[in-house]
Amino acid sequence: MLDDPPALSWADVCVVKDRLRQEARQSGFLAEWRELDRAAVVGTDSLDGWLGLIAMIDEHRGAAASWEIRNGDHGADDDEDVARYRCPTHRSCGRREAVTALAPPPVCRLSGAPMARDDG
Ligand SMILES: [Zn+2]
Repeated sequence: MLDDPPALSWADVCVVKDRLRQEARQSGFLAEWRELDRAAVVGTDSLDGWLGLIAMIDEHRGAAASWEIRNGDHGADDDEDVARYRCPTHRSCGRREAVTALAPPPVCRLSGAPMARDDG
């Protein structure tokens, strides 16, 4: 139903993957999500595949309120003592997170691995 499908980046997928799983479960596409998840671990999934899943979920929900890609994780405030992380995957998906220094590292959902420190 979307006239203009949202452009999707690997960083987007990395950020929203867990939430997308919930959406997929509620919409009856959990099997499709799992297939993409398995493919993501070995790096054979595609952005088209993820976009296809998002489109199916949107259609299932009537697409009135289209799925919001970019209200992902809540980052830390700039003036806090923060630790910065980047995506560790082979794709270098470009995702960046800043969390309070005492918090555990965020996890890259593409690979399931903790994100790498980015102190640059
Ligand atoms: Zn990632």
